[in-house]
Amino acid sequence: MVKKFLAVLLGLVLGYMLIDDFNPETVKGRNVFITGASTGIGEQLAYHYARLGANVVITARRENKLKEVIEKCKELGTKEQTYDYVVADMIDLNATGSVLQKAISKLGGRLDYLVLNHIILLDLGVWTGSSHNLSLIDKVINVNFQSYVYLASHALPHLEKSKGSIIVVSSFAGKFGQPFVSIYSASKFALDGFFGGLRQELKLRNCDISITTCVLGLIGTENAINQLLGFGQNQLLNMLTAASPSDTAFQIIRSGAKRVRQMYYPMLQIYPLVLMRDWFPETCDFLNRYVYTLNS
Ligand code: NDP
Repeated sequence: MVKKFLAVLLGLVLGYMLIDDFNPETVKGRNVFITGASTGIGEQLAYHYARLGANVVITARRENKLKEVIEKCKELGTKEQTYDYVVADMIDLNATGSVLQKAISKLGGRLDYLVLNHIILLDLGVWTGSSHNLSLIDKVINVNFQSYVYLASHALPHLEKSKGSIIVVSSFAGKFGQPFVSIYSASKFALDGFFGGLRQELKLRNCDISITTCVLGLIGTENAINQLLGFGQNQLLNMLTAASPSDTAFQIIRSGAKRVRQMYYPMLQIYPLVLMRDWFPETCDFLNRYVYTLNS
């Protein structure tokens, strides 16, 4: 009886997961601004949005990389779409207002999706409380957290008009503290707190802006893999399968278009631990730690 019940339950869950009710037409003609789009997941987001018929403006610091991404977007989309970029360093919070204004004017004055994805590139390391450790706090919190809040804040009136969406690219490290990236984890936890609160306020104000938080596991971007290898985490790379940046980007777009509250990807790699974290903290910590290697 119990076995039958579990089999039916599993069937229902798998069935639900396999139903793809994403309609790509919902993205066509939409105006999208993507941060951190010169490489990695952000770059792939730009390609998928272009292919799906959206107007795309991207930002990051390296202009040559942004130009290359835009050229490829042009090949993937149609002549009628807009593709452009704004060069910006998100450590400069005062510049975020003009960055957003420039992006919106390139998009013809309307914004439908704000996709917050950039992160500062950090070497993995043990937090010993050294002056180097402490010197990272402001930079990481500025770029990974505060600039997200600033950009979202500047975008709110525009998104309110368009009934648009904010997509926040976060991490398993923002749900479950991870070793060797403590300050990165802290910045991602902060995103969950801020955007969780903002989401509630928007509902209370009957404001039709959706916020999708994307909780990602291991994704095989060049920077992520190099960071792990650089800190001797070969065991982690052997034990976990890194998802493809392109598939991840597509799932982010899909979840944003469906106005999903929170998405986990790859789901089976991270969701069970997040679910069990508060019930069995020691066991979950142990399982999580199991994939890491402490190099002396
Ligand atoms: P990448 O390192 O490949 O890309 C980071 C992007 O951010 C680049 O475009 C970079 O461009 C930009 N960037 C870096 N510093 C700044 C800055 N100061 N100002 C503006 N832009 C900046 O990252 P991923 O693609 O791997 O990750 C993308 C997102 O996914 C992040 O939010 C990350 O936390 C999340 N994630 C990734 C995982 C993974 O395994 N890859 C796992 C979990 C979450 P430029 O240098 O030109 O400025």
